[in-house]
Amino acid sequence: MIGAAYHGQSSWAKRTAEERCRILMRWHDLINHNIDNLSATLTAEQGKPLAEARAEIVYANSFILWFAGEASRAYGLTIPSPFPDARVQAVKEPVGVVAAITPWNFPAAMVTRKVAPAMAAGCSIIVKPSDLTPLTAIALSKLAYKAGVPQDVFSIVVSDNAEAVGKILTTDPGISKISFTGSSRVGGILMAQSAPTIKRLSLELGGNAPFIVFSDACIETAIQSAKVAKFRNAGQTCVSANRFIVERSIASLFAERLAAEAKSLHLGDGRDHGCDIGPLINVAAANRVRSMIAEAVKCGASIVEDSAPSHVPQFVAPVVVENVTPEMRLFTEEIFGPVSPVTAFDSEEEAVSLANATPFGLAGYFFSSDQGRIARTIKKMQCGMVGINTGTISNAAIPFGGCKQSGLGREGSAYGLDEYLEIKTLIEAI
Ligand code: ADP
Repeated sequence: MIGAAYHGQSSWAKRTAEERCRILMRWHDLINHNIDNLSATLTAEQGKPLAEARAEIVYANSFILWFAGEASRAYGLTIPSPFPDARVQAVKEPVGVVAAITPWNFPAAMVTRKVAPAMAAGCSIIVKPSDLTPLTAIALSKLAYKAGVPQDVFSIVVSDNAEAVGKILTTDPGISKISFTGSSRVGGILMAQSAPTIKRLSLELGGNAPFIVFSDACIETAIQSAKVAKFRNAGQTCVSANRFIVERSIASLFAERLAAEAKSLHLGDGRDHGCDIGPLINVAAANRVRSMIAEAVKCGASIVEDSAPSHVPQFVAPVVVENVTPEMRLFTEEIFGPVSPVTAFDSEEEAVSLANATPFGLAGYFFSSDQGRIARTIKKMQCGMVGINTGTISNAAIPFGGCKQSGLGREGSAYGLDEYLEIKTLIEAI
């Protein structure tokens, strides 16, 4: 497969950017025509409500549209020559064969966010989707072939032995780049395994997003944004609001309002009309979330207003937990469940220092109406993406990625194409 991808890449790179763009556009249109089937497949294998699955297919497809356009914009640079009688240029070339390893929480979008820029840049790509959600990736690849993507340019490897496949992909000298979305633990393993062959890396890893609400914020905006940033995909997203850090004077009010919103959400089978929150990915994930809540309650935190508990082991009812302290796992770990821990603060400095008290730095959110405070807080937030008075931060046109232990590189936007391009410098005596 790696040999085929190597062979496929050289002929793919020889096509003009416009040809690659047209094929990507055909793929985009086929996905649009098959959106009902793709959404149904996604919900069936991942569990999220059908409306969210559909929104994910639209989002996934927006990366194909975006990078189809970007294919023609891999501009280089002509540099004023520092030498007499010379012409100096920096041109961009595809990095070569790419291997992508993707997670189960967005089985469509995490595939297209890597495949579209790779193909736009002239790379071939081998994707290993999560063994928990391989079907959406396979369905997408079939549509890509129908659109004219050669099979040796985009291939899927399905395996329940991720470790073995990861080892092959990271050590084979024929692969030039690894693009990974998943946990920081596995990101570190892939980085170490890629070191001997010095591969390019794009890593989109775990987060622990703070969501600060200052007392001068519009509480309604903060609550509605919290709903979006917390409960989408049952909280199983790497940019989920993980810790609600709320000024003490409004902390109880905020917790009660968010709990009322949580209570109004319907838990159920993602295929049923009116379902807002589906199951977590498996029983082990649900047990982990339940144990984090239990541990916090044991150490003095309290559940604000309990939603009807679920009696199905894979489901966790959305809850708000008050009086969460920085030692609790609900504060230190990425929850990946519909739980909203609230921690009160007394000063701007304390809010920012609580927000930054994590080795992760993917997304962060804060809410305030004070322009001075907004400017100061933007500067101090240690994360790759900051939502200011909003909980919506993802779009194909916007750079997505983190700092600290949340990863390397950016996906989406013009920067997303650069991840798949190498700069070649030309110095020509004239
Ligand atoms: P999550 O906790 O969200 O499942 P993981 O980092 O465990 O995140 O998984 C993300 C992706 O990485 C999945 O496709 C998974 O199969 C794969 N994976 C897990 N462990 C390894 C490994 N040791 N080497 C390569 N890939 C791995």
